[in-house]
Amino acid sequence: MARKLLLVLAHPDDESMGNGTLILRHADAGWDVHLVCATRGGMGWNGRPAGARFEDLPEIRSRELAKAAEVLGLASVELWDYPDGGVPQEDQDEIAGRIRSAVEQLQPDVVVGWGPDGGYGHPDHIAVGACTDVALAGSGMPRFHMAIDAPQAQAWSRAIESGGGAGFTLQPVLAVDAKFEPTPSELERVKAAVRCHDSQLSPMYQAMLDTDERAWWMARNCYVRAPGSPPAELSP
Ligand SMILES: [Zn+2]
Repeated sequence: MARKLLLVLAHPDDESMGNGTLILRHADAGWDVHLVCATRGGMGWNGRPAGARFEDLPEIRSRELAKAAEVLGLASVELWDYPDGGVPQEDQDEIAGRIRSAVEQLQPDVVVGWGPDGGYGHPDHIAVGACTDVALAGSGMPRFHMAIDAPQAQAWSRAIESGGGAGFTLQPVLAVDAKFEPTPSELERVKAAVRCHDSQLSPMYQAMLDTDERAWWMARNCYVRAPGSPPAELSP
């Protein structure tokens, strides 16, 4: 039976922007990679695609995620309807309970999700990550948090600035436990997956894709073992 990796994330595009190479590497090695995504990203409005209405965004982003899932070779996607930007205000016990049920049903070999930094401090990322940790506490399930190290934080900051973005707080970790650096062909596929999220192609997003150097740093995925996780390895 194929081994299984479960990602528990917050928004459509978290998988491609933050975990593309991890997913490809596992899927290509014959793993089944499953995704649970807590929101449909209904607040990520950039006025795209032309003619779209704000209220259509959850539907648009659900379709974009389905396309990206195909590019990345995900085995399944489960989309929940928690409000984009409002996950911390929802019932955290309920969310943790649903994550626990998903894990019991799928029986993954390892779970990956957001850590307490939420990448750049996004409250939904932090809440979904915390609920995942609560759900799996004491379970013996190996789990890892997404992380960035210092060189990646510098590369992201440069890209964010060149895209006109500001106000992101990146918290690089001193050492990572697992690192996935994209090969040229993996990089092309991660870029294709990110481009599936057309509604999200803001100037900052575009800046990440503009040069292969920036895209490479975007597609380079680092992880730390979650506190309390058994001493497992994250490698397909
Ligand atoms: Zn996100």
